[in-house]
Amino acid sequence: MALIVQKFGGSSVANAEKIKRVAGIITDTYKAGNDVVVVLSAQGDTTDDLIEKAMEINPKPSKREMDMLLSTGEQISISLCAMCIEGMGIPVISLTGWQIGMITNSTYSNARIKKVGCDRIRKELDKRRIVIVAGFQGINKYDDITTLGRGGSDTTAVAIAAAMHADLCQIYTDVDGVYTADPRKVQGARKLQEITYDEMLELASMGAQVLHNRSVEMAKRYCVDLEVLSSYQRVPGTKVKEVTNMEQTKISGIAKDNDTVSIGIVGLKDEPGIAFKLFRVLAAKKINVDIILQSAAKDSSQDISFTISKNDTEACVNALEEYKSVLGFSKIIVNTKVSKISIVGAGMMSASGIAALMFEALYDAKVNISMISTSEIKISVIVDEQYADRAVQSIHNKFFGD
Ligand code: ASP
Ligand code: MG
Repeated sequence: MALIVQKFGGSSVANAEKIKRVAGIITDTYKAGNDVVVVLSAQGDTTDDLIEKAMEINPKPSKREMDMLLSTGEQISISLCAMCIEGMGIPVISLTGWQIGMITNSTYSNARIKKVGCDRIRKELDKRRIVIVAGFQGINKYDDITTLGRGGSDTTAVAIAAAMHADLCQIYTDVDGVYTADPRKVQGARKLQEITYDEMLELASMGAQVLHNRSVEMAKRYCVDLEVLSSYQRVPGTKVKEVTNMEQTKISGIAKDNDTVSIGIVGLKDEPGIAFKLFRVLAAKKINVDIILQSAAKDSSQDISFTISKNDTEACVNALEEYKSVLGFSKIIVNTKVSKISIVGAGMMSASGIAALMFEALYDAKVNISMISTSEIKISVIVDEQYADRAVQSIHNKFFGD
């Protein structure tokens, strides 16, 4: 007998029919003799609809009241799902965040979990009940309801799995796992059986939004074995864990990120402190910089290019213009028509020639590279947006083609 935490996302519980399907998965796990704790998100677009309702009344509501409102979505899901399981004649109870002692800090709308109580859940499991917990919500030291940030139910599930020392935390969603590349766009993309936490984090931060990032970080910290799988097809998903051994591939996945802008600063002085001053200006505006490239100096001047998220473009250019005299550059070149393509794989640490293979694939596809950056388990390149899909396909063929 095992203790299994199962989380179902909003689309998996969107209506009565879907709740019945989910109840089938839950009760089958229970009937196999396991202890089952379920975490649910709000049904379908409920959270968005609630936000819209709030905006009609007050466009600037306090975050405390916002959490009061948004937390209701999950409460609807858990009670409905519990009723469904009751109807099947199986013992079940639904519990909110405060009922299980999900203690968070006081940052309304983006609270961090401080402690997860286990006593109540344990007591209910001991009575052989299925326990259904509201995701996304907690309670702070003032006994007020908080929420964990959009997509936070994944984090609720992992936190409970960690606190209860669960054997497995299953995240059910509308995709059936993590793929080598976006299966809707890349021919031959296939589902991974396993992936490491670090690889998952890298892929997630580049747009493969299968899991909430914070949940993966937490799973890594507490060594919670995760599995991402589909609520619609009963097939094995992708396991996310510390080390993987089954697939001896060079890389695990390829991601394309269109939320990238490259900024070139031309004619900076070639003297100590310039990079410091430049990036301090950006840091002060909380602008996150990704890839940085400094060209070799010529005529005592130099160029520095870097990439940022599209949202930050205006703030970045304004900040640079404001400090133009201090930084002493001649012009700023903004290019919004770029994509970042990254290959990710823990196997890179021990294999050589991975970068060369990637660059060969780009050469095959006749795609020019404008920036390159590497880390232990990732290689990213910046390319012209219009060739990005072709580039991804070519890289995929190179690493995963037979
Ligand atoms: N219902 C919340 C949201 O939509 C939390 C979640 O789905 O995980 O963001
Ligand atoms: Mg949701």
